[in-house]
Amino acid sequence: MIYGALEAGGTKMVCAIGTEDGEILEQCSIPTRIPEETIPPIIDFFKSKDIAALGIASFGPLCLDKNDPQYGHITTTPKPGWKDYDLVGTMKNALNVPIGFDTDVNGSLLGEVTYGDSKGLSDVVYITIGTGIGGGVMSNGKLLHGMLHPELGHMLLRPHPDDKYTGRCPFHHNCMEGMAAGPAIEDRWGQSGKELAGREEVWRLEAYYIGQAIVNIILTLSPKRIILGGGVMHQLQLMDMIRDEVAKQMNGYLETSELKDLSSYIVTASLNDDQGIMGCIRLAQLATEQ
Ligand code: ZN
Repeated sequence: MIYGALEAGGTKMVCAIGTEDGEILEQCSIPTRIPEETIPPIIDFFKSKDIAALGIASFGPLCLDKNDPQYGHITTTPKPGWKDYDLVGTMKNALNVPIGFDTDVNGSLLGEVTYGDSKGLSDVVYITIGTGIGGGVMSNGKLLHGMLHPELGHMLLRPHPDDKYTGRCPFHHNCMEGMAAGPAIEDRWGQSGKELAGREEVWRLEAYYIGQAIVNIILTLSPKRIILGGGVMHQLQLMDMIRDEVAKQMNGYLETSELKDLSSYIVTASLNDDQGIMGCIRLAQLATEQ
C-alpha cells in the first residue's frame, strides 16, 4: 500500500508518498502562503497517487480531540489565513481517505520511534530547537495530547545570573523559546548562530537553558530517552555541553542506568531530517487501523 505524508510547516509544506517501511517514493515541497494558494497544489499532488491514507503533522496549536467540533483545525496561530483553518476536513473532502493528524513534533517523534534509532521505545520526548522550540511526548507508547498538546517550548526557565537578556517570547519573555531559540541567540549576541559558531560562551549559555529544560522534562515526564533536533542542534559542540549541564543541574538527585550514560540518553535525531515526513507515513498507517 502507498501512504500519503504531509509535513505542514510554517515556511514550507513537504508532501510525500511512501511505503509502510518508511521508504519515500516521491516528495515535493510547497512554500507556505495563505491557504487558498497553498492547499490546491497539495491536493493535486496527492490526488493522482492512489494513497490508502494520509498522515499530517502540522505546525500549531492544533485541536487533536476527536470529540471536539474543532478537531483537525489549526487554532490560534498568528499566521495569516491559517487561524481556525480546518486542515483535516479540507484534505478529507478532497481525497476521501482516512487521515491521521498530530503536531509536527509528535510526527518527528513518531518517525524516530518507528524507523529510527529509538525504534520500539515507549517513553520518549522529542524537542526541536530552531526558529521556534517545540516538544513532542510519547508516554506508555502513546503520543500525549491531554487538554490540547504539550507546549514544552514555552516552559518557564530561570535566567542565568550573568545573562542580561530578557527574552524574546511576547507572552512569557524568559521561556525556553524566548531564551534559547535561534532568533533569541541572534538577538542576544547581535550575530547569527553560524557567525557565533566559535564562541564557546554562546553555546555554554545555550546549553544552560536547554539543559535546564531537559531536567524539568526528566522530572515531570520521566522519559527513557530525549531526542534533540532542529537547526540549532546543527552546532555539534552543543550536545556534550547540554549533557554536562543536565548532570550538573540534576546534581545527583536521580540515579538511573539511563542517567549514568547521558550519551545514549540525550541523542540527536537519527533520520537525516526525514523524521517528520516518515512520522507522517506512520500516522497515515495508524489511521487505517482505527
Ligand atoms: Zn513563551
